[in-house]
Amino acid sequence: MRRISAHYIFPGDGPLLKYGILEVDADGTILNIRDTGGIPEEFHGVEFYNGILIPGLVNAHCHLELSHLKGRVISAPGLVPFLDSVLAFRAEVCPYEVMEQADLNMEAEGIVAVGDISNTDHSFPVKQKSRLYYHSFLEGAAMDPLWSEKVMTRLRGLARGLEHYGLKGSLCPHAPYSVSDELFEKLLEESLHTGLPVSVHHQESFHEDLLFLKKEGDFVSFIEQQYPGFTTWIPPGKSSFDHLLPFFSRFPRLLLVHNTYSNPERLGSIAGLSDSVALVLCPRSNLMLEGRLPDVEGLSRTGLRIALGTDSLASNHELSIVSEMKVLQDAFPEIALTTLLQWATLNGAWALGLESCLGSFTPGYRPGINLVENADLQALRLLEKTRIRRIL
Ligand SMILES: [Zn+2]
Repeated sequence: MRRISAHYIFPGDGPLLKYGILEVDADGTILNIRDTGGIPEEFHGVEFYNGILIPGLVNAHCHLELSHLKGRVISAPGLVPFLDSVLAFRAEVCPYEVMEQADLNMEAEGIVAVGDISNTDHSFPVKQKSRLYYHSFLEGAAMDPLWSEKVMTRLRGLARGLEHYGLKGSLCPHAPYSVSDELFEKLLEESLHTGLPVSVHHQESFHEDLLFLKKEGDFVSFIEQQYPGFTTWIPPGKSSFDHLLPFFSRFPRLLLVHNTYSNPERLGSIAGLSDSVALVLCPRSNLMLEGRLPDVEGLSRTGLRIALGTDSLASNHELSIVSEMKVLQDAFPEIALTTLLQWATLNGAWALGLESCLGSFTPGYRPGINLVENADLQALRLLEKTRIRRIL
């Protein structure tokens, strides 16, 4: 058994334990977490670290299969030009070594679990070999209702491939602007059957609401290119969130990813769904594509869980959850470090349905142990030089 201590322990939720002690099995299972009441105790064989011990981090939104697009997607600002640019690379397969390196980089950044979007099976061999836990969100899109069954057949084929690699995952809609109501309904039925978490890109661009409110904005021509029948589509006259609420409210566990243009008051109206809906924020990707962040302060008051993601290397320089936390801390200084840490650990684990094994220092769990190094331990703030060091 190892006894590990530091200036502080963050258990996954709740307050920091000053000079707390973790008792850990040889395989990393948490045996006990001791609150010393802030008094450093003399223990034989206690390893002491400078910093804050936290559970393994969870990256709730990534696209491993886009890792080869790092620094290559040069587009005009905005989500729609970005999507056009990514689609131009559609025929290119991300090399195995590139995805493997991205996976190893995430491990070095203290990440233990990833919610990863897959449109193809390209990343499955990397995930099989990885020491990280992956939940693959197998993503489908089609605005043409006649394509719904075809998309479901393709996704079920992908799911069989995933199973072949011994990996876990679920079938998901890509985004409100790319999925017909018919396809949403089929994916909802599937989710009600499996009970697994489902992810959807949500209000990442203001053009999404323009589309649903007035059939205006960048998405109109984007969709028309892929679905000629779109000319007869009548906009519902409400935000994408309000239009899809009847679906959103029925998924057993739903991750709304991005929320860059979401109205916190509208999202707050579903606070009663806090045991089935979580918000996933990818701040660095939002800054790169849209040049803005969601109203994180407002979203934090909705009563919904918030988790963090990196998005892909096509819209981020690195896959680092601590870097995402630094951006949020700098933009929203009123958000406490313990809140950010909970978003990055326990809430991420919840988003992937892993809260009963990861995300907190609960006895019996094997969540991984990270040290937050070079933080300001007086003010409890992350600094530019703050890094994650894996202890276990
Ligand atoms: Zn994404």
